[in-house]
Amino acid sequence: MMSSLNRMNTRIIPFSFSYHEPTSLEEALSLLSKLGADGKILAGGTDLIVKMKARQAEPRHIINIKKIKELRYITVDEDKIRIGALATWRDLEKSSHIISRIPSLLDAASVMGGVQIRNMATIAGNICNASPAADSAPPFLVHGARVKAMSEKGARFVPIDSFFIAPGKTALMPEEMVVEIEIPLPPPSSSSAFLKLARTSMDLAKVSAAAYLKVDGGTIEEARVALGAVAPKPIRAPSVEKELIGKPATEETFKNASKHVVKDISPIDDIRSTASYRKKTSPYLVTDALLTALSRIGGEKR
Ligand SMILES: Cc1cc2nc3c(=O)[nH]c(=O)nc-3n(C[C@H](O)[C@H](O)[C@H](O)COP(=O)(O)OP(=O)(O)OC[C@H]3O[C@@H](n4cnc5c(N)ncnc54)[C@H](O)[C@@H]3O)c2cc1C
Repeated sequence: MMSSLNRMNTRIIPFSFSYHEPTSLEEALSLLSKLGADGKILAGGTDLIVKMKARQAEPRHIINIKKIKELRYITVDEDKIRIGALATWRDLEKSSHIISRIPSLLDAASVMGGVQIRNMATIAGNICNASPAADSAPPFLVHGARVKAMSEKGARFVPIDSFFIAPGKTALMPEEMVVEIEIPLPPPSSSSAFLKLARTSMDLAKVSAAAYLKVDGGTIEEARVALGAVAPKPIRAPSVEKELIGKPATEETFKNASKHVVKDISPIDDIRSTASYRKKTSPYLVTDALLTALSRIGGEKR
């Protein structure tokens, strides 16, 4: 019988595995194609190593991609921001392109873990780990990001709305890896915000919410709202969005619309919070995220 010590987060990884360190994307894709579901990508390791030590993940082959230097970038094109698979949260925090154009993602970077974690952890690892509480997920959802997945056969783009399937499960095939995340450049008169409630400053969210608004002459033209930790995967809140479009961009509109969020969420009790707390706080968090987004486009201040 396995000792309980072997299921705790000690310094020991209590099983054997083969270790691969490709230095090119081609080499990594070839390994993934050969190993299939037996191979697991290692990026920052801040999720995977913890799971391996607790035997929640027991991959037979680890493919460490950290030596593929060309995957570490954050760039801006004519119409999109591109985040490479090895860009870390710290890279993001320091990136002027992101700071100026995607404020909700910067909000997420400033409350994600601590600086040590942000130095190691990648943004791609955050979405591939597929936690319902992943901090990058609500900002990506409200900004309509898409994920570039690649295998030896070529590349395909997965809209972020269809990337998350269930806790720990994404739309990636075993022979695929994420090489890039793309975010369309937002238009003028738009902005976004992300807010998070957590037990401590370094913990995963009890509830998180992001809001994106495009306002024209005081009227809401576009609205997207997304939440984390209130459903089996990060979700959009269509019931709230429907109540916002075409209405005046005011606190009253936001408060009325945010009440509808309870129709979109299906929270549970877990070690971080209770379903009841999550239901009660979600409307307030959504209202605050909307107000913050609006204040960033020069609308009604908080
Ligand atoms: C102390 C601590 C605090 C934390 N705080 C937060 C927090 O506040 N908010 C939050 O959201 N998370 C938090 N985390 C979780 C974690 O740090 C993040 O999810 C992080 O972004 C994961 O990135 P990584 O590079 O370390 O991923 P890894 O651990 O290397 O990988 C995670 C998963 O993604 C897969 N993967 C990684 N890259 C790819 C790729 N390119 N293609 C395909 N699959 C890939 C791996 O196989 C693995 O299954 C915390 C973790 C710790 C230890």
